[in-house]
Amino acid sequence: MRVTVRSRSGPYFVDVAPGILEALGQDPAAAGLSGRVAVVTDSNVRPLWGERVRTDLARAGVDAELLEIAPGEGSKTLEWADALWTGLIGSGFGRADTVLALGGGVVGDLAGFVAATFHRGMRLVHAPTTLLAQVDSSIGGKVAIDHRLGKNLVGAFHPPARVLCDVATLRTLPERERWNGLAEVVKTALVLDSELFEELETALPALAGGQSDDEGWAGVVGRTAALKARLVSEDELEAGPRMLLNFGHTVGHALEAATGHGPLGHGEAVVLGMRAAVGVSERLGRLNPDEARRILRILARFPRPPPVPRPERDAVRAALGRDKKAVGGKVRYVVLEAIGRGAVEAALPEELLSFAIDRSLEGL
Ligand code: NAD
Repeated sequence: MRVTVRSRSGPYFVDVAPGILEALGQDPAAAGLSGRVAVVTDSNVRPLWGERVRTDLARAGVDAELLEIAPGEGSKTLEWADALWTGLIGSGFGRADTVLALGGGVVGDLAGFVAATFHRGMRLVHAPTTLLAQVDSSIGGKVAIDHRLGKNLVGAFHPPARVLCDVATLRTLPERERWNGLAEVVKTALVLDSELFEELETALPALAGGQSDDEGWAGVVGRTAALKARLVSEDELEAGPRMLLNFGHTVGHALEAATGHGPLGHGEAVVLGMRAAVGVSERLGRLNPDEARRILRILARFPRPPPVPRPERDAVRAALGRDKKAVGGKVRYVVLEAIGRGAVEAALPEELLSFAIDRSLEGL
C-alpha cells in the first residue's frame, strides 16, 4: 500500500508492505535513497535488521555506513546528536547523501533531528521498525531531541523523502512494544475512523498476542498511516485538525512527566489518558454512555502498566501546564463526540482537568 503525504517541501510516499527492506538492495533509488547512506539504528535493531540492510545496500553498490546509538528515550539527547554529527563529519557525509533512520521512534526522532541540522538539512528516509513508529512518529515530519526540562523541546519540522514501513520487522517486536503501538492505533481510530475501531474490537487480541500475519499487520498499519497522513497533509504545522491526534496525550504526557519519563511506556500512559478523556467527553455531554462503555471495554484489554510510584495530582497538574500545546496557560483538550469523531476543546474548566487527572491515576 502506498500513501501520499503533502508537505511544505513537496509530497512524499509512505510505503507499507512486508519485505520492503529486503528489496532495498535491488533498487535503492526507487526507495528514495540517494548518494551515500548513513544507516542510523540502535543496538537492538542493528543485529536484527541493520546488518542485513547494510549488506544489501553494499551489494547494490551503495556506500552505506552504520551509526549505532543506545536504545531508549535516554538517547534523544544533544550528546547523542553530537555523536552522530561527529560520525557524519568523520565519514565525509554531505548534503547530497541520505540518513536512513532504521528503528523505533527514538531513532527516527534523533536521526531526523540530525538530518534536519547537518549541513542545514540533508535527505532523510525513515524505515520505522516499531508499530508506533510505523503508524505515527515517522509520518508528519516532526523530529526532536529532549531537553532536561522536557521531552521533545528542541526540534524541527523536517519531512522525510520517503517512509518505508516494512511490517515484517514487527515480527521481532516485543509484546509490550506491540501494545504501545496499538494504543496509537486505537487512538487514531477513535478520533477518525469508526470502522477501524469496530475491526479492532475483534482483532486486538491477535494483534497484541503476535498471532497476526504480515498481511494482517499491513492492513492495520496501512489504514492507520493513511489516517495520519490525511491529517498532517491538511495541517502540517499543527495549527488545527492535527491536534486531534493528541487525544489521550494531554494527560498521558503529564503522567509520563510526573513519573519521571521511563517507568511508564508511552502507550501505557496514553491508554490512561484516553480513559480520562472518555470520562471528560461523557461529562461534557458530548459522548453517549453506550459508546463510552464500548471504548472503556477495549481500553480495559490493555495490560495494566508496571507498578510505579503514584504521583500527586498537583504534580500531574503542574506537568499539564508545561504542555507544549497549552496556549496562554489554557490546556487544549481533545474530546470525542462519537466513536470515530474527535473534537478540540479550546479550554477545559479546572474541575474537569482535576477529574481527568484523578480518572487517569486510578489506572496506576
Ligand atoms: P523506541 O524507539 O524506544 O523503540 C522501542 C524499543 O523497541 C527499543 O528498545 C528498540 O530498540 C526496540 N525495537 C525497535 N524495533 C524493533 C524490532 N523490530 N524488533 C525488536 N525490537 C525493536 O520507542 P518507540 O515507541 O518506537 O518510539 C517512541 C518515541 O517516538 C518517543 O521518543 C516519542 O517522543 C517519539 N514520537 C515521535 C512522534 C513524532 O511525530 N515525531 C510521534 C510519536 C512519538
